[in-house]
Amino acid sequence: MVKFMKTYSIWNEEKKVNLPSLQKDCTVDVAIIGGGLTGLSIGYQLKDTNFKTIILEQNECGRGVTSKSTAKITYLQEHIYHKIKRFGDEKKAQKYLESQREAVVLLKEIIEKEKIACDFESSPSYLFVTDEKNKPKLDKEYQFYKQNGVNITKTKLKNYPAIKVDDTYVFHPIKYINGLKKILKDQIYENSRVEKITQKENEYVLCVNGYTVKAKNVVLATHYPYFIYPFFFPLKNHVETSYVKAIKVSKPLKINGINLDKENLSFRFYKDYCLLLFHSSMSSARKNLRDNFIEKGEYNWTNKDVISNDYLPFIGKITKDDSFLIACGYNTWGFTNATLAGRIIKDILCKKKNKYSFLFDPKRRRNLNKFIRFFVDAGNTLTAILKSTKKNSNNQNVEYRKMKGKSVAVYIDKNKKEHIVLNRCPHMKCGLVFNEVEKTWDCLCHGSRFDIDGKCLEGPSNQDISFDL
Ligand SMILES: Cc1cc2nc3c(=O)[nH]c(=O)nc-3n(C[C@H](O)[C@H](O)[C@H](O)COP(=O)(O)OP(=O)(O)OC[C@H]3O[C@@H](n4cnc5c(N)ncnc54)[C@H](O)[C@@H]3O)c2cc1C
Repeated sequence: MVKFMKTYSIWNEEKKVNLPSLQKDCTVDVAIIGGGLTGLSIGYQLKDTNFKTIILEQNECGRGVTSKSTAKITYLQEHIYHKIKRFGDEKKAQKYLESQREAVVLLKEIIEKEKIACDFESSPSYLFVTDEKNKPKLDKEYQFYKQNGVNITKTKLKNYPAIKVDDTYVFHPIKYINGLKKILKDQIYENSRVEKITQKENEYVLCVNGYTVKAKNVVLATHYPYFIYPFFFPLKNHVETSYVKAIKVSKPLKINGINLDKENLSFRFYKDYCLLLFHSSMSSARKNLRDNFIEKGEYNWTNKDVISNDYLPFIGKITKDDSFLIACGYNTWGFTNATLAGRIIKDILCKKKNKYSFLFDPKRRRNLNKFIRFFVDAGNTLTAILKSTKKNSNNQNVEYRKMKGKSVAVYIDKNKKEHIVLNRCPHMKCGLVFNEVEKTWDCLCHGSRFDIDGKCLEGPSNQDISFDL
């Protein structure tokens, strides 16, 4: 058993570099909401344009989903290309592959050009199977890469069949974010939560810290987009939670990998740690967590990402004109896609053609397969809502009760103090489930997270929850 188990991401050991919060009204051309990898990548691309741009981050830049990833920069992305083919066609899969290979190069160029010290290093990527019966899947992937001009080799990982590419990388995400923050420091406001957006004639009005930001264009880079109910976003995706642990190893390797078996396992190394990520369905993941996860690994944390129903990101405008844009839905491959989002959003705003804007268009049409997935996503969301209304924790420190006729969730701390919150996420009123790794209340439907006293840590909820006794 590890003596000092930390329930936060290894990247969060990096010390904080705070920027000021917004303390005045202002008028800009572009307001970017969210200072994760997406927001800063867009800000970076816009810096050499004539747009007056502002980036508004509710906490500290990069400490959202970005800080909890494994930070691989790779286009060997599990079997995403076959999933894209299934819900689209071969051409879309090819175009997506092209985009990801380009994004790896683009990110490398930014790091080198700006001389960002972010532990960026070469790390060949492996795709492997541990179960012989999944070998045909691996062969299919190999064929796809080969046919599309990728220099890929068949090999072994330990004794498992594997395929490998060499032109991929890993880095430290917070060090990279801090590098971008330094470049964009005059445009970024931290601890500045956008609470409301209204549209007035030709501009948007944002409420932030009691001040007003007027913007001609708004870019939502909040990971899960807020404020856009008419777009029916919850029906076009689901949120997937993954578990990550960092374990000290005696012989770290300069490689990363992901398998194609039923239980997904992804890994990379950082210094003398191995970072292991596993996906699972929510219920089995929670069981896994209790049974064998919490005590193992020096660092343990959870993370979530938006999985789109055709496995392609949503990057582009959602209004008829170019005034309101989003960038999200990266299917757990955000470092390539967020970097690319920077370029695509810049091109849209500058009225330049971008060869990927059609592929990632958030308003793209549904086909029959996507239509079916639409019901699967809606079903997943509904199941999560139903689950969250039942008693869903075996943790003795967690209780669900009725108080003043309302359903409340209670966490009892080690001093026997009760922390009571209303068992309703403010976003769409789903119930909450206790996250035993990070001691948070999580919404299974759309991924909002709250601390034990109801402070909103991650969206899509834009409000805290409370319960007046
Ligand atoms: C377990 C896991 C591992 C992953 N590993 C990899 C990997 O190895 N390689 C890879 O390419 N991708 C990986 N990803 C995906 C990648 O981490 C994400 O897709 C990416 O970091 C998303 O970045 P973002 O900027 O969109 O979101 P975030 O980093 O979450 O940034 C959004 C920001 O918006 C802010 N915000 C939200 N609401 C407001 C508001 N109202 N006002 C102001 N600010 C607001 C938040 O505070 C936050 O900082 C992984 C994902 C998971 C779940």
